[in-house]
Amino acid sequence: MATIGFIGLGNMGAPMLANLVKAGHRVSAFDLSEQAQKAGANAGGQIVKSAGDVAAGADVIITMLPAGKHVLSVYNDPQGPLARAKAGTLFVDCSTIDVASSRTAHASAQKAGMLSLDAPVSGGVGGATAGTLTFMVGGSDKAFGVGQPVLAHMGKKIVHCGGDGAGQAAKICNNMVLGISMIAVGEAFVLGEKLGLSHQALFDVVSTASGQCWSMNSYCPVPGPVPTSPANNDYKPGFAAELMLKDLSLAMEAAHTAHADCALGAHARDIYDTFKAEGHADQDFSAIINAIRARSGE
Ligand code: NAD
Repeated sequence: MATIGFIGLGNMGAPMLANLVKAGHRVSAFDLSEQAQKAGANAGGQIVKSAGDVAAGADVIITMLPAGKHVLSVYNDPQGPLARAKAGTLFVDCSTIDVASSRTAHASAQKAGMLSLDAPVSGGVGGATAGTLTFMVGGSDKAFGVGQPVLAHMGKKIVHCGGDGAGQAAKICNNMVLGISMIAVGEAFVLGEKLGLSHQALFDVVSTASGQCWSMNSYCPVPGPVPTSPANNDYKPGFAAELMLKDLSLAMEAAHTAHADCALGAHARDIYDTFKAEGHADQDFSAIINAIRARSGE
């Protein structure tokens, strides 16, 4: 079994760490927050005093941090893990960050003689806890070969999407589809209400017709048709609207840099931005239907 360093023990990091410990790995771990350190210790990690300290004896170092600036601050710290790990250590960044920062992190790792992967996830806290995350991975074949068996302890599906940054690219493209499709499904239900259609009738048609999609079939934004969807639990996340806004913003940043015309992605980002400004950041993103209904005069 491997010795693993883990930096970032928040909502996702701590349960991911727990699955590595369950699989028999030795994990040394660090987070800036005391509360997160406690969660990491409860998950079976050995808490060290700094991010750089996780490098001692590590074969693999995983980061699970909020955004690109946090990842680069760890990677570029002269006392950090990149400066202190043994040559050839695999660095895996599982955070969802912008593609440009991800590629910079890869370049820093490789310049220091390390292997590197970007490996953002989908599946949320539930998937992190159950060990059923999907990993979207970017990096060399060699790095993927080393990282794949470690990721397999935390996820059920691991897709090698291409070179450096390809995992982040796949993640934001997927979540752009998700953000847009949830708004489309919300609009369809509100229009259906206005036209006198029951939720169940609309669901029964669309979920088996050409409008079917994950936002309708698995995560239906009205209570009733899909009992496990957050709509049945007062729109508790799930996947918070704030995180959807983050991912749509990352997608639009990438679209701008890459000169891709993503008109609906941009509109979806603005709709979630307003939703957050109206005080709904902590609700599940499917609650966007309530804003659509309110704007429709009910
Ligand atoms: P979180 O805010 O709960 O945890 C992040 C942790 O990083 C915090 O405990 C914070 O103290 C720590 N941190 C920040 N800077 C640090 C540094 N320099 N050194 C050490 N620790 C530091 O966030 P989360 O929900 O666990 O999400 C982590 C990442 O996973 C994000 O990029 C998020 O977009 C992505 N993600 C989250 C979900 C979800 O449902 N929560 C789903 C998919 C992807």
